[in-house]
Amino acid sequence: MRVGIGHDTHRLAPGRPLLLGGVLIPHTRGLTGHSDADVVLHAVTDALLGAAGMGDIGDAYPDTDPAYRGADSRVFLRETLVRVHQHGWQLVNVDVIIFAQEPKLGPYKAEIRRQLADLLGLGVDAVNVKAKTGEGVGVIGRAEAISCQVVALIDRQNG
Ligand code: MG
Repeated sequence: MRVGIGHDTHRLAPGRPLLLGGVLIPHTRGLTGHSDADVVLHAVTDALLGAAGMGDIGDAYPDTDPAYRGADSRVFLRETLVRVHQHGWQLVNVDVIIFAQEPKLGPYKAEIRRQLADLLGLGVDAVNVKAKTGEGVGVIGRAEAISCQVVALIDRQNG
């Protein structure tokens, strides 16, 4: 078995959609970035790459590459999962923490969990999603950014 950790942060800004784990969250601001800036999918992708010893999302999908401008981050995750499988690994579970002062994510956690489980080919019991605020301090607490941390466990496909 192997474990991997993923972390990502994106700034909040007006005029952008807010996508978290592939779910469109109604809000006055969204996350900025070269791709669709889905901070959750980026952190999950990095956790998978880390567990499999396959580098990071910046190596695989450089933000200097025009091909990835506005890219759907679900594609990054699906392609990465295929690569992890090709290296002989199966995903066991992921544990996800989203750090956001606003909007309040409680009403959306279950939907994000279902969407991640669907993308990852896991049961919802193997995908945990937690939401934390920044307690009003730091870049999270001032609602300047949203961050995400993920731990992923993988196992050899034949046990
Ligand atoms: Mg990112």
